[in-house]
Amino acid sequence: MDSIMSFILENARFKGVYIGADKAIQDILDCHSYPLVIQKILGQGVVLSLALAQSIKYQGVFSFQVRSAGPVQSLFINVTHDKQVRVYAVYDEEKLPSDEDLTNESLFGNGELLFSVTQLGQEPYQGIVSLTGQTLTDTVLDYFKLSEQIKTDLILQQKDGKTRCLMIQQMPLKEDDEFEEVASLYETVDVLMNSVKDSELFTDKLAPEQLLYRLFHANDLTVYEPSVPHFSCACHKDQMKRFLDRLTAKEREELYQDGEIVVECQFCQTQYVFKHEDFN
Ligand SMILES: [Zn+2]
Repeated sequence: MDSIMSFILENARFKGVYIGADKAIQDILDCHSYPLVIQKILGQGVVLSLALAQSIKYQGVFSFQVRSAGPVQSLFINVTHDKQVRVYAVYDEEKLPSDEDLTNESLFGNGELLFSVTQLGQEPYQGIVSLTGQTLTDTVLDYFKLSEQIKTDLILQQKDGKTRCLMIQQMPLKEDDEFEEVASLYETVDVLMNSVKDSELFTDKLAPEQLLYRLFHANDLTVYEPSVPHFSCACHKDQMKRFLDRLTAKEREELYQDGEIVVECQFCQTQYVFKHEDFN
């Protein structure tokens, strides 16, 4: 079920989120003709981005970008504060692995994952990590472990074109907290999260709130009002024109075909057409 549902456990010692984004992902796929392997990795990237973009509190954009010299050269995802998602992928179709082989190594070879957060009134933040581990999920977990030193666990499952994610994170210790006691509580909630079955994650009969209650009802669960992710691209003709304005007249001249420059948005495939008179 499409929902971004945040929750806290054990008197706010841990926070978590459930993510389902079937419709948003389907709407993205409807405007591209991506092969199955790209569809799957895109689904993973979108739910991971939505999980990571939880930190955006103000007007802003979270970007998630995988860059490599391998079969998938780029997977680029934007999530805004109001959960608008857009994506594009650049890949070499001939070299793609089978859709059963979604390891970092076969998709990307050596590569890196870049995160950035741009928020109104805040310094931009950027993080960069090598693509460690077997999958993008492993890379994200390694990032939290090494760069942020936040105890985090994350489950990402895919089935029949659908992707689900559950994540929990430890919050900073409270003044009276005993380190060992909180560590033991973390282990308990982590085991509970990992006990979730595919049949629970992918059924329409269990709303996200019911699923969270089933897993964590004994752990002082509080669930917040969910939000719903959706596909939307903020591209605009003026923005494309600014890009063309930055080129020299000679560079621009080379782009004309039959008296027109056609610029296509990589995210939503909208085509913007420019003529000579646009640049006078
Ligand atoms: Zn667009």
